[in-house]
Amino acid sequence: MSEERFDCIIVGGGLAGLTAAYVLAGEGQEVLLVEKGNYSGAKNMTGGRLYGHSLEKVIADFAASAPVERKVVKERLSRGVGDDMVTVEYDSAGLACPFGESYTVLRGKFDRWLADQAEEQGAMLIYGVRVDSLLEENGKVFGVVAGDEEMEANVVILADGANSLLAQNLGYKAPPQINQATVGVKEVIGLSEEIINERFNLASGEGLAWLFYGNGEDQVYDAFLYTNTDSVSIGVTMMLGEIDHTQNSVPQMLEDFKNNSKIAPLLEGGRLMEYSAHLIPEGGENMLPKLYGDGIILVGDAAALCANLGFTLRGMDLAVESGLLAAKTVLAAQEQGDFSADTLCAYEKALQESFVLACVKGGESCLAAVKAGGYEEDPISAFNTAMGEAGIK
Ligand SMILES: Cc1cc2nc3c(=O)[nH]c(=O)nc-3n(C[C@H](O)[C@H](O)[C@H](O)COP(=O)(O)OP(=O)(O)OC[C@H]3O[C@@H](n4cnc5c(N)ncnc54)[C@H](O)[C@@H]3O)c2cc1C
Repeated sequence: MSEERFDCIIVGGGLAGLTAAYVLAGEGQEVLLVEKGNYSGAKNMTGGRLYGHSLEKVIADFAASAPVERKVVKERLSRGVGDDMVTVEYDSAGLACPFGESYTVLRGKFDRWLADQAEEQGAMLIYGVRVDSLLEENGKVFGVVAGDEEMEANVVILADGANSLLAQNLGYKAPPQINQATVGVKEVIGLSEEIINERFNLASGEGLAWLFYGNGEDQVYDAFLYTNTDSVSIGVTMMLGEIDHTQNSVPQMLEDFKNNSKIAPLLEGGRLMEYSAHLIPEGGENMLPKLYGDGIILVGDAAALCANLGFTLRGMDLAVESGLLAAKTVLAAQEQGDFSADTLCAYEKALQESFVLACVKGGESCLAAVKAGGYEEDPISAFNTAMGEAGIK
């Protein structure tokens, strides 16, 4: 028996869902966001680098008030096996240009802040509640079921992350395949601000984004390190299908990586503050689910909108942009009084016209996505050229 009715119900309070909630509530819509964690950020994981351009469109000058850690002013790319690494440092002015600006973030703080902003706009957020299924009739979604409560809405936005069981049960997407998703394991290691500045050659407020590829003794995995104000986020990622071929578990790979002779001195004296693991949808275009239907839109990781471009991993700005575009689509549907797929298809068109799908499609579109990220050139190409000039294959 349905008890409540909303203009829009959003499932999942990560960056995608919160952005949609913020925009819709700001336009006077009755919005309910349901999050299974005890607060926004409790269950959310990232490596650490948020490109600001999408959120900037939603909340101008957000970095002035949001709990960002450091502004990225320097990048490093390392390639190698075990302790033998070649590293290129990149500190182009492009990193600081308005469209390319990026910040290191910790989701526990950042998502909580965005949730507060959405609530201030008038969105209703409930925590500690899992949506179990969707209300659906003849293919039209018209609400959600959480425990023994049913709540109805004109439209449901699925923002429930990489392993969206709701989208799978609806037949909109398949479970992630082993060649489409990586698993990431990460630690946040506390160190004083002064030590971080000294060890990474940074001034206060300045951040480093450092990616590594090909770093195992007997396996290839990617790794990352981001500097926060008074901590370092460090982790490894590996394609699910590769895990079978390795002797080590992924947590052990992270342990080995931290003990690498180039890395260990940078972490010396640090204390473990956070440990997390999560799936990353990296299957590109082939992994895209059905993005909309009658009464429903998929955003962020739930829609597999994430891309590993080699020198950088992008998912958070895609989550924000897709949340924004979904909200705009719902507002237009509201005006027309039509929430069918015929109207909500505008969402997919908007994604196609934005940087989001170019980013996801990778390959040829990678450079377009790179430019959309504010770079003048592809740092991977610059890296490979530098390696070639140094005679390293
Ligand atoms: C190791 C790692 C490194 C990464 N590095 C970067 C990076 O440096 N830069 C970058 O831009 N991106 C990075 N990403 C990708 C980025 O973190 C994701 O793309 C982004 O978090 C997606 O946001 P989202 O809001 O779509 O999903 P999520 O943040 O996963 O949010 C989904 C939310 O839905 C909730 N939920 C799920 N099911 C239900 C349910 N049934 N009922 C209620 N609530 C539910 C969850 O609790 C969660 O809060 C990384 C990801 C990983 C794992």
